[in-house]
Amino acid sequence: MTLITTFVTFIALLAWAWGSALWAHGAGTDSVPWAVYTQSFYLSGVLSIGLMSLAMVLAVRLTWLERPFGGIDQMYRLHKWTGIAAVGFAAMHWLLEMADDIVKALYGRAGRPAEQEYGGWLGALQDVGEEMGEWAIYVALAMLVITLWKRFPYHLWRHLHRVMPVLYLGVALHSAVLAPADYWAHPIGWLLAGLLTVGSLAAGWTLTGQVGRSRRYAATVVSVQTPTPGVTELVCRVQGAWRGHQAGQFAFLTLNWFEGAHPFTIASAPHGDGLVTFQIKALGDFTRQLGHRAQPGQPVTVEGPYGQFKLSRQRRSARQIWVAGGVGVTPFLAWLDSLAEATWQGGAAPEADLHYFTRQAADDPFARQLRTRCAAVPSVKLHVHESNIGLTPTPPEQLVAESAQAGQRTEVWFCGPAGLGQRVRAGLKRKLGWRLRFHQEAFEMR
Ligand SMILES: Cc1cc2nc3c(=O)[nH]c(=O)nc-3n(C[C@H](O)[C@H](O)[C@H](O)COP(=O)(O)OP(=O)(O)OC[C@H]3O[C@@H](n4cnc5c(N)ncnc54)[C@H](O)[C@@H]3O)c2cc1C
Repeated sequence: MTLITTFVTFIALLAWAWGSALWAHGAGTDSVPWAVYTQSFYLSGVLSIGLMSLAMVLAVRLTWLERPFGGIDQMYRLHKWTGIAAVGFAAMHWLLEMADDIVKALYGRAGRPAEQEYGGWLGALQDVGEEMGEWAIYVALAMLVITLWKRFPYHLWRHLHRVMPVLYLGVALHSAVLAPADYWAHPIGWLLAGLLTVGSLAAGWTLTGQVGRSRRYAATVVSVQTPTPGVTELVCRVQGAWRGHQAGQFAFLTLNWFEGAHPFTIASAPHGDGLVTFQIKALGDFTRQLGHRAQPGQPVTVEGPYGQFKLSRQRRSARQIWVAGGVGVTPFLAWLDSLAEATWQGGAAPEADLHYFTRQAADDPFARQLRTRCAAVPSVKLHVHESNIGLTPTPPEQLVAESAQAGQRTEVWFCGPAGLGQRVRAGLKRKLGWRLRFHQEAFEMR
């Protein structure tokens, strides 16, 4: 299931449910301008709360949803885009509310649908719901700005983002008490009730600190090395009933509470001894300081394993092309480690072309590790491409496409910068069409 398909299908489902209520009851007015205004107002509200509920559910790391969505990393990407779209529709809903006077001035009050006002405690709840809706939009818009502004430090963003489940509960109340009463007798009402229930449960789960708890383990740093400036290799021993990982999966690593958990691929194969190796590139504050801050013997927390970028998911019948850019090499290091062990035990490794893109192989510890590991797995043919060699570079998509044969089903596993991924995917799509199956690990969640 691609992320775009899920997103579009979900929006279509909400729009259909809204449309079925409109079909059954009409717009509640004979005036066309008021009908358009009112229904746009309701539709934007339905889309906003529906997408917000989906975003809430996607954030609670439900491992049984990993397979259909292609991994927690992909679920977080969908969470991000559903969240952004939800705030967009909420802003539209709010602007329409504000535009009420303009519609009145242009078309008069005639044909304006009657407002549904309740007395007693329900009326009081409606007032609270309205207030909450207004505050929620201000907070959500501010959150949207700092989310899209990539320079805003992640560790601060992470703390501010914790307000979202509280905000969701406020918006859920707003929707429950202000949705048209006749909705509850139609599919739109049943859908909204279901979404508000699961969204509120997800918000409660998050607020009580339950997210990922069952997969959180105490661990100890065994060794810290710096094979080259800017890269830290951290080996940890996970204690307790660590369920073990599959080659290619990742885990969240926490050194201290304030900094929070950072996702890193487990760059070693599972050996059943609780040891996990992380190869970490200095890309920001935390990763730059890691080499000095982490000490052997230090207690850390490892949460996982997560992810569907697994060696075991390959289709052996398809041609295999593996593509790594920079630190995106880590899942392939784990795959090769695992395959070397299987080969040593008499198992068969798949035939694959592994393309690795780096600036300069001579200073790159990953290029050295790849050469050593590929030597132990001869069925994997390594191609190292350097962008700093001073020659006119061949476009990466062309370099990768040389390993593909038109007309042959091909599985591509990609991990690296998003721009490189788009180019490689587009180049292969042109050559292979529907025969291409492209798996991509997203190294970015925000
Ligand atoms: C599934 C996955 C696997 C990854 N595997 C590796 C790996 O094997 N080796 C490696 O070097 N890097 C890996 N990364 C990237 C790594 O998580 C980030 O580089 C690191 O968290 C940056 O933290 P920072 O504070 O140094 O940088 P910052 O400058 O604070 O952040 C840079 C960017 O990293 C991301 N990021 C930062 N903190 C977090 C967090 N707590 N949770 C999620 N995203 C965060 C955000 O997109 C942020 O904009 C992986 C990322 C993901 C999602």
